Amino acid sequence: MKPVVELITTGSELLNGRTVNRHAQALGAHLDRLGYELIRDTTVPDDLPSIRDALKWALTRVDVVVISGGLGPTTDDVTPEAVAGLFGRSVAMDAASLESLRRRYERMGRAITPSAERQARIVEKAVALPNPVGVAPGERLEVGGKTVFILPGPPAEFLAILEQYVLPWLDAALPDRPAVRQALLMVCGLGESDIATVFDKAGFPPADVRTAYCAAPGRIEVRFATGPSAGNVEAVAAEAGRLLGGHVFSTRREDLEDVVGRLLAQQGKTLAVAESCTGGAIGARLTSVSGSSAYFRGGIIAYANDVKTAQLGIDADMIEGKGSVSPRVAARMAGAARERIRTDFGLGITGIAGPTGGTPEKPVGLVYIALADEAGVQVRQYRFGGDRERVRDWSVRMALDMLRRRLQGIRESDAFGIDSPPA
Ligand code: ATP
Ligand code: MG
Repeated sequence: MKPVVELITTGSELLNGRTVNRHAQALGAHLDRLGYELIRDTTVPDDLPSIRDALKWALTRVDVVVISGGLGPTTDDVTPEAVAGLFGRSVAMDAASLESLRRRYERMGRAITPSAERQARIVEKAVALPNPVGVAPGERLEVGGKTVFILPGPPAEFLAILEQYVLPWLDAALPDRPAVRQALLMVCGLGESDIATVFDKAGFPPADVRTAYCAAPGRIEVRFATGPSAGNVEAVAAEAGRLLGGHVFSTRREDLEDVVGRLLAQQGKTLAVAESCTGGAIGARLTSVSGSSAYFRGGIIAYANDVKTAQLGIDADMIEGKGSVSPRVAARMAGAARERIRTDFGLGITGIAGPTGGTPEKPVGLVYIALADEAGVQVRQYRFGGDRERVRDWSVRMALDMLRRRLQGIRESDAFGIDSPPA
């Protein structure tokens, strides 16, 4: 048996745009950590022949298949029938599952219906995997040296049974599988091609290292993996860290708000924000971290010009003259946030997120980010490309990154290319 798995997700809602398929991501990430690989995800509608064919083909390629969805009470839930049909088996009630289902209905004071009872059915000779957060059990089926797991579709149930039964089974099934050694760098302020260029110039990484990129606006996760024969993956990551310098903000999977929060807490400093084009998104990100009240005091969303004047004390003349998207307004916003909310740091942000509102002098994507502390105010100008959402996401991350660099004492010259993030 090889450490590879295929997934079959069932559900018409995954194909007609109503639901985003989350199981492939969840399963893929879990398997990756376990030293297995998810090599294919096939999504099929809720119909019996489609599910049966997908499973038939998957079993020609791999020894372990996970199928999700279609275990529910309604007549469009036909996964057990499809699987049973392929192997010439029947579908029968699982006594223990039926019993727990009945008890559940009793507790709710409701009479059980035949349709509800359907959820206790499993494929003949399958092992039921009790569902800790729902009704329909998952099941494990062994056929001709192959293993098929059938899991419920609702993400919480899929995950619970995956973690409780499937992953431990996989772990035990191949105890001697080669360990995949992995290392991770979280990088801010560069695009994938910037990173690739830096690596290429340095002849990095060595040939036996696999590099994978996962990009979000303003943040890239770079992963390195080495097989059993290759060198030390930590050394590879350390070399990458040296090449990318101050752009690396973490070596674990976390985002800037986590790192900034930790730094502020460690240094006993507080922060306030004044946001225009990001509309509170910086505050939302900062407060997504539990415990953020220790360092984030609050913010002012000053979107309209007269709110910038009334709430932040910015001269109407200053806005009148240069417009609200200017380095001076950004600087005043940062200073006012800091003074009015009484914090060590103030972040101010103003820009044109688009798609409307741009002019030749002030095009869409122009953003000023200012950081104020007791010594003064620093302002940076950016030109972000892309749609409104992307401009705002980049803005939030670059604002947080500006503070991160300050808190880490990273000099400007250590952070190449920061004024020209990719368009
Ligand atoms: P139920 O008893 O709820 O009918 P089920 O096992 O029959 O469970 P489905 O009917 O396929 O599962 O899906 C139930 C719910 O879970 C639906 O709302 C569906 O959108 C969601 N779901 C199913 N598969 C996925 C998936 N791959 N990613 C995200 N959501 C999913
Ligand atoms: Mg269903």
